[in-house]
Amino acid sequence: MIVNMSDNATEAEIEHIIERIREAGYQPHVTRGTQRTIVAAVGSGRRHEIEALAVAAGVDTVVPIAQPFKLVSRQVKPHRSVVNVQGVPIGGDGVVVIAGPCSVESPEQLLSTAQAVKKSGASLLRGGAYKPRTSPYDFQGLGVEALKILRDASQQTGLPVVTEVMSTEDIDLISEYADMLQVGARNMQNFALLRKLATAKKPVLLKRGPSATVKEWLLAAEYLLSGGNPDVVLCERGIKTFETETRNTIDLAAVALARDLSHLPVIADPSHGTGKQSLIAAVSRAAVAVGADGLIIEVHPCPERALSDGPQSLDFAAFEKVMRGLSEPLRGIANGHA
Ligand code: PEP
Ligand code: MN
Repeated sequence: MIVNMSDNATEAEIEHIIERIREAGYQPHVTRGTQRTIVAAVGSGRRHEIEALAVAAGVDTVVPIAQPFKLVSRQVKPHRSVVNVQGVPIGGDGVVVIAGPCSVESPEQLLSTAQAVKKSGASLLRGGAYKPRTSPYDFQGLGVEALKILRDASQQTGLPVVTEVMSTEDIDLISEYADMLQVGARNMQNFALLRKLATAKKPVLLKRGPSATVKEWLLAAEYLLSGGNPDVVLCERGIKTFETETRNTIDLAAVALARDLSHLPVIADPSHGTGKQSLIAAVSRAAVAVGADGLIIEVHPCPERALSDGPQSLDFAAFEKVMRGLSEPLRGIANGHA
């Protein structure tokens, strides 16, 4: 860790930092430049105590010398990456919306959804063919039949498709049909899957695991980049907390944090992130406000009949409303004077 002192740091402030670095278990190494002083904390100690020095008097910044992740890090590549999915750039100027049903259920269900979400401004189509379900008795997806339905809907609407791959065995087959491969939250640390996807010639949508730290999430992305696949989009989809009113707790700070730490595009999933139709509009706006490069939203022609995730799926009218709400201005700051 490096503590950069500010230009006008006093000798007493520098001495204090040296002392605190020792207390935290590190050896301080001081470099005095003409403009400013840098104090390196060398060895191993209590890292958080050094991080906290960012708010000590006379300190400009505290920077780790190295992150455990490298290729995904902005220290290695400061400029933001844009991932191109069949002509749709994710991570550029515009917010990209991916929409579609949780599961592909029939050609009519998928095509009508694809047409509706396209009309409302979505630029990619989602739909699960292989579903990771908590219970083995729940609908598991239509498999290859769903892949064909996805491809047909894609051809008819021009929307590229993203679908989940759960197993290394399915990668080649799914790659024949899909434009982007999703790694589901439950598979974020399936290292065999990540290693094989690193050699697949398809962009990957990497969901954050429900119990994964941002660092673990970025290290999962590091598997993909270090194995040769630079086209990775991160997706925050909510984590497990003590809250029971929402299905997961969507961590919007992690969207901003991941974009600070990494050059990769980051999108948010308000559907799995909340589990509630009524919260999708608000959370989508919030995600865009914190800098999300896109959203992935579940849409179904008739959510009450959906074979999976109906309670969090929007019908076409509600999705249209969410899309319109995305470009409404935020409220102004109230002037506190009466
Ligand atoms: C999904 O996208 O339908 C899904 C199962 O997502 P997650 O892996 O985030 O639960
Ligand atoms: Mn779902």
